[in-house]
Amino acid sequence: MPMTFFIDTTRCTACRGCQVACKEWQGFKANETRQRGTHQNPPDLNPLNYKLVRFAEYKENGRVVWYFLPDQCRHCVEPPCKEAADNYVEGAILQDSATGAVIFTEKTRQLTPSQMKEVIAYCPYNIPRLNKVSGMLVKCDMCIDRVRHNMLPMCVKACCTGAMNFGERDKMLKLANQRLTELKKKCPNAQLQDPEDVNVIYLLTDDPKKYYQAVNG
Ligand code: SF4
Ligand code: SF4
Ligand code: SF4
Repeated sequence: MPMTFFIDTTRCTACRGCQVACKEWQGFKANETRQRGTHQNPPDLNPLNYKLVRFAEYKENGRVVWYFLPDQCRHCVEPPCKEAADNYVEGAILQDSATGAVIFTEKTRQLTPSQMKEVIAYCPYNIPRLNKVSGMLVKCDMCIDRVRHNMLPMCVKACCTGAMNFGERDKMLKLANQRLTELKKKCPNAQLQDPEDVNVIYLLTDDPKKYYQAVNG
């Protein structure tokens, strides 16, 4: 049974605990950064940030509205990144048969720069990044080392609001649909983001483009 994240953005406070926990577990050093007048920091996913809490702010009907999106690889059910990489280097990108996790391996180093660009372009969610130090394409690995030992992904373990959930796909889909039904009563535009296509399912209150332009392409 594939494993799935259900990310309930209505419960996210943008505390960034998940983002920091991911860095700690991966052993990544801090990014050099500066105040840019936004809560979102660093500005984008990068080789030392597999998870980024995106922050968007709008004025609507005289009110300020915030949208938070803890962004990460969606572990697509049929991953387009793998489809692209398989054309060039077998085993550069793997899909774990037990969990469905999409894993970028050291063999991504064997891809040429233009092949890497193609892999990146195939991702509908703008996730893969090039680590110029290792020469590898990198992204979230579902904390596969933890999950294989029946432990939660680190970002899920760190989230204390209930925004991050993880479990067997059918259970997560059930939870996601329950929450959607509840939320629709007060937010008619509420929706699940591509639930059939991905193993990281977001519950959004509004148009995905309000959260982040790259969501859903
Ligand atoms: Fe949101 Fe939970 Fe991440 Fe905090 S830890 S930013 S509440 S998803
Ligand atoms: Fe690959 Fe992008 Fe899907 Fe992740 S979100 S599995 S990088 S296509
Ligand atoms: Fe980071 Fe692990 Fe969460 Fe992926 S599953 S975003 S690698 S903490």
